[in-house]
Amino acid sequence: MNCYNHPNKPAIGFCKSCCKGLCSDCATALPNGLACRNTCEDRVNLINQIIDNNQKVITAANVQVRSSGLFVLIMGIVFCLFGFLPLLLSGSTSTIAMGILGLFFVAFGVIRLIKKSQYYPTAK
Ligand SMILES: [Zn+2]
Ligand SMILES: [Zn+2]
Repeated sequence: MNCYNHPNKPAIGFCKSCCKGLCSDCATALPNGLACRNTCEDRVNLINQIIDNNQKVITAANVQVRSSGLFVLIMGIVFCLFGFLPLLLSGSTSTIAMGILGLFFVAFGVIRLIKKSQYYPTAK
């Protein structure tokens, strides 16, 4: 593979934006890849920013899923208590639907808490 601009010079890598092969004269080394000097630098910086932002969003979303799972689990336990306690104490079945709903909440909350996240962003 040779440089796109200098066909007789060997390429040292590819531009992260346009994917052309670049020699050491044509390439600018940026923190996460190479860019065509003077033409693709802004775009490669933008690509790197987009990836960084996505990592932050994914991390925040994972925290959100975990904390909402804990909330649903606690709500489920409360529903189970209020739903099944009258049944245990006096044999009344009037609140049993609430207890069954509570069981679903508990199951849903546990699944959310133990489910592995789909993405593993590298921490920054
Ligand atoms: Zn380029
Ligand atoms: Zn070149």
